[in-house]
Amino acid sequence: MQYRPVGSTGISAGVIGLGTEHLDNKPLSTVDEVIGIALDQGINMMDLFMPGETVRTNIGKALAGKRDKMHIQGHIGSTDINEQYDVSRDLGICKKYFENLLRCLRTDYIDFGMLFFIDSEKAFTKVFEGEILKYAQELKKQGTIRAIGASSHNPIIARRMVETGALNLLMFSINPAFDMAPRGVDVLDHIDDNFNYEKNLDSDRAALYRLCEQRGVGITVMKTLGAGKLLSREHTPFSEPLTVGQCIHYALTRPAVVSTLVGCASGEQVYEALEYLDLDEKARDYSGIIEQYQGNFKGNCVYCNHCLPCPREINIADVNKYLDIAALDEKAIPPGVVQHYKALNSHGSDCVACGSCEERCPFSVPVIKNMEHAAALFGV
Ligand code: SF4
Ligand code: SF4
Repeated sequence: MQYRPVGSTGISAGVIGLGTEHLDNKPLSTVDEVIGIALDQGINMMDLFMPGETVRTNIGKALAGKRDKMHIQGHIGSTDINEQYDVSRDLGICKKYFENLLRCLRTDYIDFGMLFFIDSEKAFTKVFEGEILKYAQELKKQGTIRAIGASSHNPIIARRMVETGALNLLMFSINPAFDMAPRGVDVLDHIDDNFNYEKNLDSDRAALYRLCEQRGVGITVMKTLGAGKLLSREHTPFSEPLTVGQCIHYALTRPAVVSTLVGCASGEQVYEALEYLDLDEKARDYSGIIEQYQGNFKGNCVYCNHCLPCPREINIADVNKYLDIAALDEKAIPPGVVQHYKALNSHGSDCVACGSCEERCPFSVPVIKNMEHAAALFGV
């Protein structure tokens, strides 16, 4: 497993994590198998939003004696009022369900207390200007949660949350089809029509990822496979279906992304997700599939590394990524970003302007100019 720091929390998480929604209504034996294999394989991050007592208790049993090996995202606001899955912004109800989560999991702490499903202005106001954020902050002060996160599918609202400075982690839906949704489109409305919209780079989403990196907020990814549609010839919005490895790699190459949380219903599916770790760069490369929709991608790096190899061993995608984050405010580049850039094995200053990367880049990125700019900006 490869591990990445979760923003500035001091916690590290594996690049492959576990989404547990498919464990709902499964017997304890299945839950035990999935979580056991995940732990054995070094997965140390999982999301648990389901409000049902049975699945929560089964997960608690599967984690018995190993609780400290798994970082848990537990949600504040996910409920099943009247036996129907529901979202609540009522403090009393949120507390009741959060305390129930601790009891079912037989633990006295949750690693990431997640403000649940903040997709609208109304939800943002209720949670961030009402009592629920204060509740999460109090839990953090008491040590009942180690960090505060939030889940969202809306880049504008997510941006507002990050800008409050209250978040350590954002759980966000990322895949190539979502990222090409035009501004203002609600991606969740388009899963069933196979992403039937004019594809283009949605700069709100790209800007959100950069902002998270700049502010030290880690991102965990949901909907990595676009509800499986991106894998299917029949449903993909692209000319070819993507593979699981390409979808995971796309998510993991966005700025600030720590971990993709892959929903697994069996041990076999956990192993399938982990196959990503053994893929070579060619098998991970998604650039050919999204190239056809370049639109205003043209000239913008999508961090695919299709342009490698570089004779000076520059990781061109990473240099471009740090350059893009720095561009948010070149006069006040966060020290963490400078540090990450300097920790790369080779830098913009190593570029000998051979031009081979520019020939290979499907998105016409001016790599040589970018390398010069990075060298001037970061001093190396
Ligand atoms: S420069 Fe082009 S090929 Fe290289 S990482 Fe960026 S988009 Fe991909
Ligand atoms: S132009 Fe610079 S970055 Fe591109 S391959 Fe050549 S040395 Fe590497």
